[in-house]
Amino acid sequence: MELANRVQTLTPSSTLAITAKAKELRQAGHDVIGLGAGEPDFNTPEHILEAASKAMYEGFTKYTPAGGTIELKQAIQKKMQQDQGLAYDLDQIIVTIGAKHALYTLFQVLLNKEDEVIVPAPYWVSYPEQIKLAEGKPVFVDAQEENEFKLTPEQLENAITEKTKAVIINSPSNPTGVMYEKEELEALGEVCLKHNILIVSDEIYEKLTYTATKHVSVAEISPKLKEQTVIINGVSKSHSMTGWRIGYAVGNKQLIKAMSNLASHSTSNPTSIAQVAAEAAYRGSQNPVTDMREAFSERLEKLYEWLVAIPGIECVKPKGAFYLFPNVKKAVEMNGFDTVDDWVTALLEEEKVALVPGSGFGAPNNVRLSYAISLEQLEEAANRVKRFVENHQ
Ligand code: PLP
Repeated sequence: MELANRVQTLTPSSTLAITAKAKELRQAGHDVIGLGAGEPDFNTPEHILEAASKAMYEGFTKYTPAGGTIELKQAIQKKMQQDQGLAYDLDQIIVTIGAKHALYTLFQVLLNKEDEVIVPAPYWVSYPEQIKLAEGKPVFVDAQEENEFKLTPEQLENAITEKTKAVIINSPSNPTGVMYEKEELEALGEVCLKHNILIVSDEIYEKLTYTATKHVSVAEISPKLKEQTVIINGVSKSHSMTGWRIGYAVGNKQLIKAMSNLASHSTSNPTSIAQVAAEAAYRGSQNPVTDMREAFSERLEKLYEWLVAIPGIECVKPKGAFYLFPNVKKAVEMNGFDTVDDWVTALLEEEKVALVPGSGFGAPNNVRLSYAISLEQLEEAANRVKRFVENHQ
């Protein structure tokens, strides 16, 4: 079968690949600890389940407007105002099938052939593929580990060409967990305003932060930057609702309208019941979000200490999300492996610990560990990694 050119270079997500391999080993009877998960391990809170169940039995099972129900858009509008002090009209909001589809649709309506999008590396695996699917060109800029993997204004300025249409800022970040400070966003924002570049601010991990400093969106800095920014967010990570597939984008009216038009011909609408569930998530008690954050915070502190105590493993301490992104180059060399990928494969085979190699995120010296599993399992995983490193010395 001859497939279209646009999918010839499309690769499956590396995070999914490792999860699948771990599952395979588990099915064969091995005690595998998977640190590859990209989703919280908590149940969706009870009141959300109840709202969805009620909606289903009350017959809310039909098409909704393509860009989402008015009720959910109003709940999002209120959330943006309350949490971030940002006022948006309803026609500046689109509800999508997860944050992933918000990004996909955005690139489809924004990019012409060869238009460039600046993607700071390490990056979330879907950005480059989605940009390419829209016939755009991802332009990677290596954010330095010494600078906590954060893009600098100079790096941004140097990467801009006549074809640059947008830059992605993902804070807190997947895979590094780092979070930009207000002043850093201000400086990056100034460069974007100067060159009239759209900021795609992926804030899906907004609620999962573990420092005294609050998450700040670049759109909060000034009205001008608000106009220059499209915020992407959703309930997947904040309310442990990855399977419900509800995300959203807020920003420029024209852009949002085009995204809704595209959705009307491709997906029709996000699942009606899931939209009611997301509305309950935003309107109901936020205590489950706080509880999850506290559990993640404790895991981060412990796992970070266990990891950096292992010879040859160095790690920038994350401030958000639920990932650690250690540099394992020294351990890989000490252990006699050629690449991090080989080291990761051997670790999975020998000690049955599944990590995701950093190569898929544009950082070949690192690995990504997710701490969306219990503390007991994390401790066991850290012990196994330590044993592996020591056995190969
Ligand atoms: N953006 C980032 C940085 C992510 O890590 C993810 C999920 O892993 C998404 C977006 C997509 O989220 P959703 O499940 O809502 O599509």
